[in-house]
Amino acid sequence: MNIQKTFEGLTLKGISEKKGDEYFITGTLEGDVKVECVKCLTPFKRDIKEDIKFRIVKPPFNGFDENYDIIEQEKLNIEEILQSEVESIKNSFDNICENCQKQEFNKEF
Ligand SMILES: [Zn+2]
Repeated sequence: MNIQKTFEGLTLKGISEKKGDEYFITGTLEGDVKVECVKCLTPFKRDIKEDIKFRIVKPPFNGFDENYDIIEQEKLNIEEILQSEVESIKNSFDNICENCQKQEFNKEF
């Protein structure tokens, strides 16, 4: 099944495969997410482009998968997955705006 869903500027595109009661999703996350610079708190848009491999399992899940990121969900909910991806991008410690990046660069050289 093809999936395409956008949440707050972030688009998940991919293919989901159902195996038993699990879903395997491979694809990409792409878009601009509005984040805040961790140094000066200026909002800016961060370009996101990453490959994803998700395995959606029913909780509780105690296994391990070295190829897929495990996501526990009672019912497959792409929007919820996107929402938590956006959350984690927003909370990331390497959200640093261009200005602060330049300052860091000047300090080092
Ligand atoms: Zn900054």
